[in-house]
Amino acid sequence: MHRVAHVSRWLPALLAVGLLLRADARAEPPQRAPVAIPIPIQPGPAPPLTTEPLGARERRRAVRFTVALPEPASQYVEVTMTVTRATRRATSIAMPAWIPGSYKIRDFARHVDGLRAETLDGRPLAVHKRDKQTWTITNRRRGFRVVYRVFADELSVRTNFVDAQHALLSSPALFLYLVGQEARPAEIELRLPPGWRAYAPLPTPTPDDPTPRYLAASYDELVDAPFMLGRPDARHFSIAGRRVELLLSAVAGANLELDRAAAEARDIVVTFSRLMGGLPFARYTMFLEAGPHGGGGLEHERSAMMMVQRDGFSSEGGYARLAHLVAHEFFHLWNVKRIHDRALGPFDYTREVHSRLLWFHEGFTETVENQALVRAGLTEPQDFLSALAGAWTSYRRKPGRDHEPISLVSHDAWTRLYQSSARDANTLVSYYEKGHLIGVALDLELRLRAGARGRRGSLVGVFRRLMASHGARDRGIDLDDIIAAASAEAGEDMRWFFRRHVEGTTPLQLPPLLEAIGVRVINRAPWEPPPPDPQLPAPPPEPPSPDLERLRTWTGMQLSGTRVHNVEPRSPAAIAGLMIGDELIAIDRRRVDSQAAIEARVADHRPGERLVISLFRDGQLLERAVVPALNPHREFSFELIDAATLDPKVLRLRDAWLGTCDPAGPVNRCVLRPPAP
Ligand SMILES: [Zn+2]
Repeated sequence: MHRVAHVSRWLPALLAVGLLLRADARAEPPQRAPVAIPIPIQPGPAPPLTTEPLGARERRRAVRFTVALPEPASQYVEVTMTVTRATRRATSIAMPAWIPGSYKIRDFARHVDGLRAETLDGRPLAVHKRDKQTWTITNRRRGFRVVYRVFADELSVRTNFVDAQHALLSSPALFLYLVGQEARPAEIELRLPPGWRAYAPLPTPTPDDPTPRYLAASYDELVDAPFMLGRPDARHFSIAGRRVELLLSAVAGANLELDRAAAEARDIVVTFSRLMGGLPFARYTMFLEAGPHGGGGLEHERSAMMMVQRDGFSSEGGYARLAHLVAHEFFHLWNVKRIHDRALGPFDYTREVHSRLLWFHEGFTETVENQALVRAGLTEPQDFLSALAGAWTSYRRKPGRDHEPISLVSHDAWTRLYQSSARDANTLVSYYEKGHLIGVALDLELRLRAGARGRRGSLVGVFRRLMASHGARDRGIDLDDIIAAASAEAGEDMRWFFRRHVEGTTPLQLPPLLEAIGVRVINRAPWEPPPPDPQLPAPPPEPPSPDLERLRTWTGMQLSGTRVHNVEPRSPAAIAGLMIGDELIAIDRRRVDSQAAIEARVADHRPGERLVISLFRDGQLLERAVVPALNPHREFSFELIDAATLDPKVLRLRDAWLGTCDPAGPVNRCVLRPPAP
């Protein structure tokens, strides 16, 4: 894919941001509250990137698209594709089967309607549909035009949507490509309904034209650019000359304060600029669509398309979710868009492209996203640890967590993670979820091992190395490149780590790593009360809580309503012969009509006390006797150990990990450090 990154172009940004923040830190004493970042939020969109119009020769080489919305309420987008120079007797054109960043076959050609071809002077040409997504045009070495329309009713970050007020266009679902000629440039002209404006992360030769035009250097670059049309609300800011804009399309309203969202996005961008040593773009667009449901995000090289729930901002949780989404998609501009598996660019759009590195591209993005939010002052360090403890507790309950190597789970994303099966709970784990925890473990290994040698190493250091060696040079990576970068960070060979946890299924061990870096790990049974706060006087002993006592009983079946959703291997439910899909109707001959009722009746029994379940299976009434066991699960809490009691070396490592004592950082919590002896 086309890459904007050149070291010489983003180095000045690093220096400017670094100096700015260091000057600020010198002026202010250390404090707990986030230091306001002196980069103002401006109203309106960022000035577009402009470019020269194509010369006559380039224009002949370019594939030109005209996109029109004559009747937005019909939800059809009308597209004309003009190819002036065509040297083959017959030319094949195709629509991608998938969109990069989302590893699922979507067959975008199924939305194409009424496709026809003609000569440049309007005479019809023969079109033969060759397979589900490819057409061949008999153009006899002459230029031609293809006219088609695309139905756009799917509101998501990956698909096309048009209504009477706005449109989100997803380029791989809209633009055809010339098979084998994807390197040709593209020119896009948009004909908009009155009063609408267009926004896209592509340079334009006509910034003030009511019929906007954009240029893309290749089909890959075009596919990487989504379009937002309508009247979005906008804010922008600049960091050392790098422009970032936030566009909010909320046609049915939203309770999101855009100024607050923009200020938080700015703090995230500044934090990543510091972590990664500059911003490798001239302009970046955060598209936000406020819809009835949230809907995640999709990364691009110079933008991210994100979807939020329009009424989700009545509590802090909405802003926290948005901060996570922004940080995640923004870090992808490095991890997967510039630093990427060799298989992931240039792309084969016709079929599945398998990558064994999605645990790295997605899971590690989650790891860095969480770290960046602590450094940006948007997550408190203890909240970061509590969220990590929650993730660890939940992961440790997944029976499928070590069933297959995560590299294989990644390879099979297309047919496993994105095509669910009833067996998944016992045989699959998400490469996001496990990848994130592998990322945390690797980061701690690198910090501890480098620290023991009196040097600094970290997961972000791995990304900085891979950006310099591969991302900025437009070279793909493989697992060996990741291992080499991690080994350089640690100061020792780290291959063993990847053999065990990426190519193997050795269980991850996070608690000992956390304990080594100054975090208390508390591990208790679900029925045991949470540990008392060590800061407070010890409370008087209490009798066991009857509610907690009920958590002792465990059968190993998971429910979805009154149906069995999963049966853990070797659990009491499995031994009793319960099956996925069984519909439970009574326990000990008393009717149960909800999940809560089933769980309550099961919990009435102590471990070892037999219960009889009546159920329907395939229309047949059956009974099964289950003998529940003692709940084998554990609840984890991770807490900061009081800094005053820690070895200064460990405290330094922990401060560096959590960004709790970074004199140049936007948030400086150095007051937590005990006074120097
Ligand atoms: Zn992602």
